[in-house]
Amino acid sequence: MDILQKMTQKARDVGDRAKDITLKASEIRYRSSSLIEVTKLKYEISKLEKEMENNFAGIGLLVYRQSQKQEKLQDEIERLIEVTRELDEEIKALENKMFELQPRPLICPNCNEELPPGGVYCSFCGEKVVDA
Ligand SMILES: [Zn+2]
Repeated sequence: MDILQKMTQKARDVGDRAKDITLKASEIRYRSSSLIEVTKLKYEISKLEKEMENNFAGIGLLVYRQSQKQEKLQDEIERLIEVTRELDEEIKALENKMFELQPRPLICPNCNEELPPGGVYCSFCGEKVVDA
């Protein structure tokens, strides 16, 4: 298989996988949020980011080959850029979902200090922060 075909196929596989992950992520949203799921999302995002780096390297290689051999590779380059752009959007979507899943730190409404979980009263100003 030609290296270009391989790269395009790989990019396509990555795109499909990113869609799977996005579906999984939206399922997760409707289940209980947990640190394990956030960790999973983080892991998937880092994998997609590595794939993006590979795509960038591929785009660079195509541009280089085009300039060296006067090959007409513009279509392949644009296709790979398009797939990479979609990958970028998938990563942003996953990052948004991850942010929604992450537990927010409790903020005191009176003094705006960030509080550790579990307390009923603010440890800075004494304001009651949990309706018990
Ligand atoms: Zn306070």
